[in-house]
Amino acid sequence: MQRRLRRPLRKQKAVLIMPYMFLDCNRRMPEKGRHCVVKGKDSVIPACSTDTHPGDFTERGCPLLGCRVVICGQIKNVIHLVHSPVGCAYYSWDYRVDSEGYCLTTDMQEKDIVFGGETKLFDAVIMAVKEFDADAVFVYETCSTGIIGDDIQAVAKMASEVTGKPVIAFTCAGFRGISQNAGHKIANTKLFELVGTGELDECSDYTVNVIGDFNAKDTKSIERMLNRLGIHVVCSFTADATLDRIRAMHRAKLNLVHCSRSSIFMAEMMQEKFGTPYIEVNFFGIENCCESLRRTCEALGICGDEVEEVIEKYLSEITPEIEYYRERLEGKKVFICHGAQRAIYWIRPFKELGMKIAGIATFFGRKDDYEKIMESVDDGTVVIDNPDAEELEEVLLEVRPDIFISDDKVKPFVHKLGIPFVNGRGQGKTYAGFEGFVNFAGDVNAAINSKVWKLVRSA
Ligand code: SF4
Repeated sequence: MQRRLRRPLRKQKAVLIMPYMFLDCNRRMPEKGRHCVVKGKDSVIPACSTDTHPGDFTERGCPLLGCRVVICGQIKNVIHLVHSPVGCAYYSWDYRVDSEGYCLTTDMQEKDIVFGGETKLFDAVIMAVKEFDADAVFVYETCSTGIIGDDIQAVAKMASEVTGKPVIAFTCAGFRGISQNAGHKIANTKLFELVGTGELDECSDYTVNVIGDFNAKDTKSIERMLNRLGIHVVCSFTADATLDRIRAMHRAKLNLVHCSRSSIFMAEMMQEKFGTPYIEVNFFGIENCCESLRRTCEALGICGDEVEEVIEKYLSEITPEIEYYRERLEGKKVFICHGAQRAIYWIRPFKELGMKIAGIATFFGRKDDYEKIMESVDDGTVVIDNPDAEELEEVLLEVRPDIFISDDKVKPFVHKLGIPFVNGRGQGKTYAGFEGFVNFAGDVNAAINSKVWKLVRSA
């Protein structure tokens, strides 16, 4: 019997021809060569915003994921009905830490694809409304049901008339964009139709919406900071959002956009229709928090002394703990792998902890995102767009970071390479705001300085 040999981790080293890093695993896909760059004197941005190459095991999400999981998944008391074969509903309840509600699928079979699935979808909506006391049913188009031409908008309208509940259909099939980003826009545009259809009981002059935050604990932390300044949050879009809150978003005096890549569309549409101004903010890390609070107060006409007083109080509370962690983390190298916006947001907080940015990967970053990234990192930082697992492995073995920050889906892969990991979305706790930054520093310290790594590496 032939003995199977273990595949070596790498055959050859990556080739560095500044500013590009040519990875050994891409020898047979030269078209991918320019998507990994190293910051240097003549730095360029990596090739990005391109279709996924055939044969590339991309980790990108499709528009369904951007629409269903990223934007809609956090809205409370809603049934998510994915009109698809069961596979499309793979990212269902527990991918995001704060996913809300049930995710169902119409479980399309071969005969449904041949004869059409509209009746099946209609029956599924009726059944979902009977089974669950939800505020609404969200219906999602997928590749198979989009290609066969099922008219989900017409079915949603009919089902809504029969049940008396809002049934909202999202035309977000995977083929409608090159990445999840297209799904963000589809969800924003559809949910915008709700804005202005509800009212608040009372409304002050100091009200905001937090747009583009998808972790309810982050939202609460941001809200607590704003409350200390007398500012109230009408709706957090979409973490902690309800349909009623979304309907009343037009009552806010200002929109704070926390993740522009996913949700700037909502802010822009509100500015155009309701005249609501918006500013981009970042509540991760000390300097970002201070800046964002100052800019929010300025936009709302709140006295600068008040905000300085609140910032001073926060800083006196957290500085001793942050100093403690900084001593333990000084000089450690981090590799950031997130959506482009979050990747940009983490650069400054890591630097505040005395750490170095060794590498950054994003799956659907655009030219302007990479320009910001290249401006913010030091020479020698590796930046890669849309890496698959093999490329990521090769880059990580080249860079050898002390910690990797990303979503949980890559955690086992990173741990197998012997690299400490932290989930950048926080696990059951917030990383946003001043108190969140203490949580974050504590988790990074616990992951890097855990004794287990000495045992793993010696083994
Ligand atoms: S790309 Fe198409 S088939 Fe694949 S999960 Fe997305 S909607 Fe489903």
